[in-house]
Formats: sequence, C-alpha cells, structure tokens
Amino acid sequence: MHNAVYHTPDPINEPIRDYAPGSEERASLQHALDVLKSDPIDIPAFIGGEAVATETTTDVVAPHNHSVVLAHLHQCGPAETEQAIEAALAAKTEWARMDWTDRAAIFLRAADLLAGPWRDRVNAATMLGQSKSAHQAEIDSACELIDFFRFNVRYMEQIYADQPNSAPGTWNHLQYRPLEGFVFAVTPFNFTSIQGNLPTAPALMGNTVLWKPSSTSAFSAYYIYKLLEEAGLPPGVINMLPADDGAQVGNTALASEHFAGLHFTGSEGTFQHLWKQIGQNLDAYRTFPTIVGETGGKDFIVAHPTADVEALVTAIVRGSFEYQGQKCSAASRLYLPQSQWKSMQGQLFDRLAELKMGPPEDFTNFINAVIDQAAYDKITSYIDHAASADAAEIVYGGDYDDSLGYFIQPTVIQAHDPKYKSMQEEIFGPVATVYVYPDDAFDETLDLVDETSPYGLTGAIFARDRDAINKAQERLEQAAGNFYINDKPTGAVVGQQPFGGARRSGTNDKAGSRLNLERWVSPRSIKETLNPATHYGYPFLAPDEDAERSETTYSKAGNGSVTN
Ligand code: NAD
Repeated sequence: MHNAVYHTPDPINEPIRDYAPGSEERASLQHALDVLKSDPIDIPAFIGGEAVATETTTDVVAPHNHSVVLAHLHQCGPAETEQAIEAALAAKTEWARMDWTDRAAIFLRAADLLAGPWRDRVNAATMLGQSKSAHQAEIDSACELIDFFRFNVRYMEQIYADQPNSAPGTWNHLQYRPLEGFVFAVTPFNFTSIQGNLPTAPALMGNTVLWKPSSTSAFSAYYIYKLLEEAGLPPGVINMLPADDGAQVGNTALASEHFAGLHFTGSEGTFQHLWKQIGQNLDAYRTFPTIVGETGGKDFIVAHPTADVEALVTAIVRGSFEYQGQKCSAASRLYLPQSQWKSMQGQLFDRLAELKMGPPEDFTNFINAVIDQAAYDKITSYIDHAASADAAEIVYGGDYDDSLGYFIQPTVIQAHDPKYKSMQEEIFGPVATVYVYPDDAFDETLDLVDETSPYGLTGAIFARDRDAINKAQERLEQAAGNFYINDKPTGAVVGQQPFGGARRSGTNDKAGSRLNLERWVSPRSIKETLNPATHYGYPFLAPDEDAERSETTYSKAGNGSVTN
C-alpha cells in the first residue's frame, strides 16, 4: 500500500559511448566480445519462467564468419506455443493487478542494468550475432532500448493520469485495462532495441506476452530475456519462443481464442500474411484483436540544386550504408539534381572507398556483413540485375563474396528510368539507387518521389532554399511518417522523433511514444454517483397548475408513456 501519488523519474536519452582507442569502455567491450564467442551457448525457449529444451536445435552463426557457431537454438512448435499461451494466461491476473508503479520499477531497473553491468554483454551479442559495428550496436541495443524502457514508463504514467471530467455529484474514472487475452510480439532481426521493445511495451501496460524473436538475432534476444529476468519480471509475463519457421509458432498463437493483439515489426509480406490469417480466424476470437505492425520502407533523399553537397554526401554515406543498409529507414533511392551529381560523384565515391569492410570485432570496419544467406542472395540479385539492365548501371561497387561471411560492397546504381526496379522495391542491403533529374524539374521530381514506391516510412529533403523545403514538406506529406530536413532519414531517437510510417510501411503507431502504448489498453469508463436519485420521477412530469391543460395534453399523447 503506497498511500501516495507517485511520479516517474524524468526520462533522459541515454548518452552514446564513443569506444575511442585506449578507452576503458572499448577494452571492456572487447573483453565481452572474447567471452561471448569463446563457447557456444544453448538458447532454449522460456515458458512460464522455465527454460524449455526442445527436440530440434539449429546453429546460430556469426554473419561475418559463418564458421563461428555462437549458439544452439531450440526450435519451438505448436506444443510449446500451447504451453506458452497457458503460461501467459496463468500469469495475467496477478501481473495486471500489480500496482503500475511496481511494473514501472521493473522496467526502470532493466534500463539501469542495461546502461550499466549488462551493456557490454548485450552490445557484444548484437555485434557478433547481427554483425553490427560497436557504434551501431551502442545506438541500438544499449541506448535505444534503454530509452524505450525509460520513456515508456513516463508515457504509461501520462496515460493513466489522463482522466475524464466529473459533473457535480459524480466522480468519473477511466481504467486502462490491459487487453483481454495475450499479446503476440513478433520481432525482426535488425534492431535489438525493437526486439526488446515489442514484447515489453504491452507487458508494461499489464499484458502478458508470447514473443517470437527472429532466429538470426536470437543471440541478443537471449540476453534481453535474461536481463528482464534479472530486473524482476515475473515468470510467464513474457514467454520467448524461438523458431526458424515463424509459422510453427504463429499458426498456433493466431488460432487461439485468447489472442488479443499482434505487435509486429518485419517485412511487409510477413505482416500481410499475419493480418490475413487473423482475418480468417476472426470468428474464433473472444475480442477483436489490436493489430500494430511496422514494416518495410523505400526511403528517399531528394536534393534541391541549393543543397549543401558535403552534408548531402555525408547523409548518403551514413543513411544508405550504415549497418549495411539493413535499416527500415535506410536511404535507398536518391533524387539528385544534374548540376550537383557531376560535382558530387567524385566526393561520394571517394568517401565510399574509405569505408573498410570486415568483421565488427575489428573496430576500424565501417561495413560488416549482411545477416544471412537469404539476404545475401536477395541483395546480390539486385546488383546482378542492374549490371545487365538497360535502364540502369552500377556506378560504384558491385562486388560481393560469401566465402567467409556475407560481405557485399557498398554499391551505387544509377537508374536511367526513375521507375527502375531498385527505385521501387525494398532491397534491405548496402545498395542505393540514384536518379539524376534536370535542375528545372524539381516539382516533377517531388511527384516522382511520392508516386514511385508503395511505402511511406522515411525521407529527407536537402536544400538551402526555404521555398524548396516547404514545397517538399507539403508535396511529400504522405510519403514519409518520419521526414527530415537537411539530415539523413535514419537514426530516429525515442522521445524526440517517434518512429513509423503509413502506406505499405505499417499501421504508423509510432514506437517509443504514448500513441503506441495506448494500443495495448482497453479503457473502461467508470461512473460513480455520489448521492444517487431515490425516485424515478422528473420535475417535468408534475401536472401544470392549470389542471384542464394537463388533461388535454395527456389525452392527445395517447398513452402518456415517457421514452428514455
Ligand atoms: P521478416 O518479415 O522476415 O521476419 C520478421 C519476424 O516475423 C521474424 O521473427 C520471423 O521469424 C517472423 N515470422 C515470419 N513468418 C511468420 C509467421 N507465419 N508467424 C509468426 N512469425 C513469423 O523480417 P526481417 O527480415 O526479420 O526484418 C526486416 C524487415 O523488417 C524489413 O522489411 C524492414 O524494413 C522491416 N523493419 C521495419 C521497421 C519499422 O519500424 N518500420 C523496423 C525494423 C525492420
């Protein structure tokens, strides 16, 4: 019993560590890398707080050196999914009834553990398992996930504090119930922070969760689960079910009458499949499920002839090629004015030539490997296509090699047709396509930007001319859920640029914002009347003082009934 109105600590974005040569933080991260790759670990399922081994395991390997086995991953199927549903439902009542301040404290503790003693472990797991550089791991698995935990706690407080007015004699409340049933969180490989946020955001609001991590990021998923356990998350609140074949878990989870919500991030195709499956199962559910899904992007940079070329080149190098272009927000189509393209090409290619490629354990590498064989095959097929297409040519890069790891050189395609394949489709790799437009066709180019891709996730305008900035902002209103002016279209920060897009990029529920948390509650209005009426009558029912008029009115009305 607190007998107090608690306030959550003010959230502050976690400062990013530099890992500069000679620093203590660099040595400590390097030590964690050595420890984590010394012996493969076992990654079981976690159901009701118990580690559950299954009959089949597969190897989790480092993408930059596929002969290094990091872990043996236990594969779940329908039986484990049924058990997890039972565990989630069994844990629900107590978890939902727990005081919200206690739920907040668990996630604030998770944030502080991750900022402190768990930071190196989770960053090292992300570097090794997902082939991220120290910087890319730091901004993802440390800073962004810490921010998700801390800011979500504050948003929960704001939601709960949002209460209705009360007329004299009454006291009204909105109770923010968790959804009735369990939430199914399905996470992508490319961000450890998203992997951590998708199951925990609904859990914070009192839901219990089945979590299907991606098997190519299972190494960091394991440490996230252990971190939450260490922070005091009760058994059964989040149940982790790894599976190479998502349908092995998804089919059973989505067939359950208790399925109440999907929290998804991944490709558009998978989201479409899951949404259709939910539609087909609709009759079976006890409640209409909440569906939140953030999917792919075909994110753009459009430059006006007045753009600052150096800033533009830097934005392209970082925005298109950091983490090998495997960000949903990566700039993958670039609309550049003819006059600038001539002068900036050399600068861009010089910068790209400086980028070293190799394993993330060598901190001098800017580019690491792409996630797995399937991604490698898909990305290189776009390079091969451009190499032989009339409508496009490769103007930089184009080499690839998977003998040791899945390495693809940063590649720039120049499309002569603005609707060329690689201007429209999500490649999800280190490949950017440039379309060079005549300087006097800026307006028409904005139309092209808007109409070329089915996605609407992120985009950027580079210009000094304010009219051009305003024009782009207006014409591209629906083309991006996150719009940047003179900045790369990646790197959204929790609490500063809530993230998500519409069109084919998802439901735009803005991860890391109050809007997202509101999707995980089902509010109940409660009205209490302080001094209730003790007779049904209303004053207007009393007869007029002129008795004759009252009788006439009565007989004209026929039966004298009063409707409600
Ligand atoms: P993916 O669609 O291949 O897989 C996502 C998850 O869905 C994985 O865990 C996978 O195992 C699971 N899955 C697949 N089929 C399933 C089924 N039938 N039932 C249950 N689970 C199933 O995506 P990915 O390759 O892991 O991630 C890359 C994609 O994610 C890209 O398209 C990228 O743009 C997108 N993404 C979007 C955002 C965003 O915020 N919009 C952020 C990160 C990634």
